[in-house]
Formats: sequence, structure tokens, C-alpha cells
Amino acid sequence: MNRSIFETIDSLFDKMVATRRHLHQYPELSFEETKTAKFIARTYQDLGIPHDTQVGGNGVIARIEGGKPGKTVALRADFDALPIEEQNDHLSFRSKHEGVMHACGHDGHTAELLGLAEAVWQHKEDLPGTVVFVHQHAEEFTPGGAKPIIESGALDDVDAVFGTHLWVNTDYGTIDVSKGAFMAGADAFKIKIIGKGGHGAQPHQTKDAIVIASDLVSSLQQIVARRIDPLKTAVVTTGTIEGGTAFNVIADTATLTGTVRTFETTVQETIIEEMERIVKGICAAAGAEYEFSYEKGYPPLINHENEASLILEEAPLADASLQTREVEPSMAGEDFAYYLKEKPGAFYFTGAKLPEHYYPHHHPKFDFDERAMLHGAKTLLQAYLSYQNHS
Ligand code: MN
Repeated sequence: MNRSIFETIDSLFDKMVATRRHLHQYPELSFEETKTAKFIARTYQDLGIPHDTQVGGNGVIARIEGGKPGKTVALRADFDALPIEEQNDHLSFRSKHEGVMHACGHDGHTAELLGLAEAVWQHKEDLPGTVVFVHQHAEEFTPGGAKPIIESGALDDVDAVFGTHLWVNTDYGTIDVSKGAFMAGADAFKIKIIGKGGHGAQPHQTKDAIVIASDLVSSLQQIVARRIDPLKTAVVTTGTIEGGTAFNVIADTATLTGTVRTFETTVQETIIEEMERIVKGICAAAGAEYEFSYEKGYPPLINHENEASLILEEAPLADASLQTREVEPSMAGEDFAYYLKEKPGAFYFTGAKLPEHYYPHHHPKFDFDERAMLHGAKTLLQAYLSYQNHS
């Protein structure tokens, strides 16, 4: 039984490529993906597969009941793009939307899940349980689409949830997963220093916001170095500094923004506390005021051990050429984390590196090996089948 559905997936490869290339040409930003959602819904409609639209926003969810009893397993693909001007002029299917690009592979996620749904629909009589195809909007931008989809109740009856990301940092043919922390919690901060501006030649009459900001940038590094247990991991990155108007003017204000990545709530809380203490102390010492805002983003993505083991041990059943690896977590963030707070499941990377054209995710020249979409579709199907046998 299983062989034939995997062969059906293979036979749909050209269609997956066509879908991916179509979506790649018409990318839409997070929370604005209405045409993409319509395209997905129309695909289900044409196939005759029952589905719901506008789930938690632009989400589309299809369900296929198998002919045999079994568990209900959700498989998720995201479909939003990024505010990036594509630089892949050599591609016939380059983005036609100025300043918007599928630079993370979500076009591929959508194509592979639609292809898988078509195969499952053809073989539904032979399959156990129910497959729930979750097409999620707005992964790239907090508060994200996962949370409202969960809150809509659409996944309440689901027993487990699996998802994968086409990953160009991993070789084609390799599946990377971890049995616990897999991706980091990703937060954002903003610090505005309110000093007192003045003439560049009369510093004693000012409170120089640039000097205070400089002090802050290095002091914030001390949090990870000196306040976090060395056996834990965290990142504090100041990404932007803005301040000043002219070379001979002392800046009135300066603003820093940055990101914090953690895997544990206690580490996250320590960092927030220490940041505010440092900002308060340095500004007090300089006689300046400040505004500090901290926005908690997606929580850390923690795989469930049983479900991650299924990926690690049984993904090669989907395709004998696949190798799986247990890897260290990535410091990138993902709102798939929310599903795993509610349900057992796992998220993993499907290797999609193009060695002759390697650019990281979110790069204007990003592209991936389209053959990896078959690995994505097949391993998601395998996860669903494995879960039926081992949950
Ligand atoms: Mn992504």
C-alpha cells in the first residue's frame, strides 16, 4: 500500500515544481497573503478535497479521512514571503512583485503539501486515520499565523502535528532533527536613550546619547558572558543604532534595536531583567532618561522526544536514499513552536542546498533544490504513517 502512494508523490513532482514556481512569482507579505490563500483553496476545490478558508486569518485547512480507523495527524506548511527585492535574475520564475520575495522556501512548503494532499486523496481508502493539511499564513512576522489558527479551535481534535522546513544549510538528501530544543525563542528589543543635545565642541553642557548608546552596546554583551550559566545558550544582538544629525552636533537621542534568542524561559527572564538593569544603570550614571521596550516573539521550538525519534528512525522508510541526523538546535525562530506547546509532534529540516548557488535563507539570491520538495512531502507522509504505528 505504502509503496504506491510514494510512487504517486513522485509522479506529481512536475506539478509541485509548477506550483512552486507560480507562487514564487507572486509572493505576498505576512498577513497580506490573500491571493496565495485563494490559490491554495482553489487547488483543493479543483481536487474535490474538503477544506476551510480564513482559518485564524488567511489560513487554509483541508482534511482527508482515511478508509481505516486511526489517529488524526496535522501536517503544516507556511506560505508567506519577505520584504526583500529578489536578485535571482537568472530565474525564469523570478518574483514579479517588487520588493517582495519567497526568500525562505515557503513557496516550496506549499507546493509539497499540496502535492502530498493530492496523493493522499487518491489513496485515501487505504490509509488509516485522518490527515489535516494546515496551510499557515504569516510565519515570518510576529505575532504570526500559528497562534490564531490554534485559537480558532481547528486543531482541537488533532493527535499530533508535524512540519518541516526546506533548509539550504543542510545537504540535499539529509534530514536534520533534534529530540528536544530545535529552534530558539526569538524576541525583539528597543532602547531609546534620551540625553541632551548640544554643540559638538561643548560636551560639558550635554548628555551625549551616542556615548551612552556605545556604552550600552558593549555592556549588553556582558549579560550572556557574565550573567547566564555557561552551560546554557543565549544570544543578545544589537542590530541597529540610530542617532545624531550632524558631525559637529552632540546627539539628543539615540535608539538601539536588537534581538534576543533563548531556549528556556528562565534564561529569557534573566536577560530581560539584566537588560533593563544595565539600561537603567548606564543612563542614570550619565544623567539621561530612557525608554525600554521588549517584545517577546515566538517561543523556543521544543520537539517531543517520541515524535522526533520517529523522524530520526523512520524518515528513510519514505525514501531509502535519505539520511537522518540528530543535530544541535538552530538559533533561528519559528512559530511552529506554538503547535508543539499544544500537541505532541516534531519539526525538522529537509536538506535543500544548491551547492553551486548557495545563499542563506532571507538572502536576495536565496534558492533551493526543488527535488527536496519530494523529500519534504514523503517524510511528512511517513511521519503521519509512523505515528499511527508508534504513538
Ligand atoms: Mn521560514
